Amino acid sequence: TARRQRSPWQCYQPGQDEQHFRQLTLIRDLQEAARESQLWMAYQPKIDASTGRVCQFEALMRWQHPSLGFIPPDEFITLAERSGNIRLLTRWMIDSVCHQLAEWRRAGQPHSVAINLSAEDVIDPQLGQHLLSVLDHYGLDVEQLSLEVTESAVMQDPALANRCLNELRQAGLTVAIDDFGTGYSSLAQLKQLPVAALKIDKSFVMSLDTQPDDVVIVRSTIELGHRLGLRVIAEGVETAAIAAMLCEFGCDELQGYLIAKPLPGHEVATWLAHYRP
Ligand code: C2E
Ligand code: CA
Ligand code: CA
Ligand code: CA
Repeated sequence: TARRQRSPWQCYQPGQDEQHFRQLTLIRDLQEAARESQLWMAYQPKIDASTGRVCQFEALMRWQHPSLGFIPPDEFITLAERSGNIRLLTRWMIDSVCHQLAEWRRAGQPHSVAINLSAEDVIDPQLGQHLLSVLDHYGLDVEQLSLEVTESAVMQDPALANRCLNELRQAGLTVAIDDFGTGYSSLAQLKQLPVAALKIDKSFVMSLDTQPDDVVIVRSTIELGHRLGLRVIAEGVETAAIAAMLCEFGCDELQGYLIAKPLPGHEVATWLAHYRP
């Protein structure tokens, strides 16, 4: 269908105005969201494909808005990035994750967590120092935290991102390339990065059992990753059939609803107690 023409006497476009109003409201409310504990972190396990054991959790941000309800992270993270609030949000997230890690550790469960970084974070020269001081504050080991960054975040300023990521790497934090396969970065550029793992985007994983093209893409990504000495993780694993295929292709780690949905931190111990590889 053709786009509706916008004529001068027809200024009122309800859909657009509502969308715009929603965005302004969300941007306005974002700053107090953290203070008023409307924000919280969910944790989704990643398992070792060969043993089935949980190797790590990924931290995913959640926002329950008082009047608008649950706001998907893809929506509010993008707004935070565009409105200059993402560094604040990232700092809140780091503190929240480390607080949780310390709590688990006190309970005898020294888990490791991967956090997601935005393009702004990847070129934040203070982030490394900040991460180390928060880890130190909570008495955590640097191995308990790792980073996920998308190709597109890195490619906004590859040289600066590379420098910052190298610093983080030197401090002992490992980096995984997230949403792998959805960006347009060249392999030559990716090879320069201090990366330990590739995470295959769920868009290639979710219909692996019905789309022959996805089989080709996933198999060659796993092979490529291994040739570069990287671990390969698949996200969006929803069925046992797909998990079996990924294991057969030599994928190192699996993550997805088949294993668990992202869980509130306080539910992780109970989930683990009932989980059987
Ligand atoms: P992502 O990092 O690629 O995260 C994977 C998304 O896939 C998550 O969505 C997760 O809940 C979802 N997922 C996991 N397993 C399955 C599955 O089996 N099936 C399906 N259909 N989906 C699955 P979520 O939590 O909505 O997050 C969306 C995106 O928002 C993330 O994509 C990430 O880019 C961003 N995000 C979330 N939390 C943060 C954060 O703390 N900081 C930053 N910078 N970005 C974040
Ligand atoms: Ca991620
Ligand atoms: Ca993804
Ligand atoms: Ca993503």
